[in-house]
Amino acid sequence: MMTPKALGELVRMSQRLGDPTKEYLILGEGNTSAQCDEESFWVKASGMELATIGEEGFCLLRFPAVLDLLMSGEPLSDDAIKERLNGASVHACLLRPSVETVLHAQLLNLPEVRFVAHTHPQSVLSLLCSKGVEQAIAGRIFPDEIVSCGIAPVFVPYTDPGLPLAKAVHEGVHAFIDQYGERPKAILMQNHGLIALGENPKECESVTAMWVKTARVLIDTAAFGGPSFLSPEHVKRIHTRPDEEYRRKMIEGAS
Ligand SMILES: [Zn+2]
Repeated sequence: MMTPKALGELVRMSQRLGDPTKEYLILGEGNTSAQCDEESFWVKASGMELATIGEEGFCLLRFPAVLDLLMSGEPLSDDAIKERLNGASVHACLLRPSVETVLHAQLLNLPEVRFVAHTHPQSVLSLLCSKGVEQAIAGRIFPDEIVSCGIAPVFVPYTDPGLPLAKAVHEGVHAFIDQYGERPKAILMQNHGLIALGENPKECESVTAMWVKTARVLIDTAAFGGPSFLSPEHVKRIHTRPDEEYRRKMIEGAS
């Protein structure tokens, strides 16, 4: 059987993100997903290692059955959620879909988002596990941060993984869209990690790489009095400059 193009791209993106020299995650940490078509998506199976994952490490699930969980007002036990996720599989999947499957499904439904990459890079975690994190990420610090990671990240306070986290991210993302009139590129989850959203794997990978650099620079600014934020006017200008938009497209390979 031919491998669908997006699945091949998802496997290669996952392996690159899991490359130990990048230090984005260790062991079975992190998870990735991609849209198959309007009806279904692939998500990493629980416990698989991104560095060595192959096509068989992903489950193909139906969007409507998974998104129903997000909309359901009724409290569901962990076992009930597991059962519902297994029932959402297009083919019988021997592996268990990631605990963050609902989170991936809703993000893959945002405009232009076809790939999602969730990692736990050490520098980003150092920031997200610090008391002053909200203050530290309240502004943008250099132009390339804005070009690759967007006008701002979505910050989500620590929430129990699984359905509660999926709901908290949903709220955060929609508040962002209301405020900025566009979808976010990066989500920072307190005491947890980073989610990069992309039209293609390159966008997810450039958002991840640039957030790792941004976090490192932010941490270093603590030695010299804390971050010096760009003015809101400068941030807006960089975000909307045609030459920076061109550069962004060259980096991400977007059309
Ligand atoms: Zn995680």
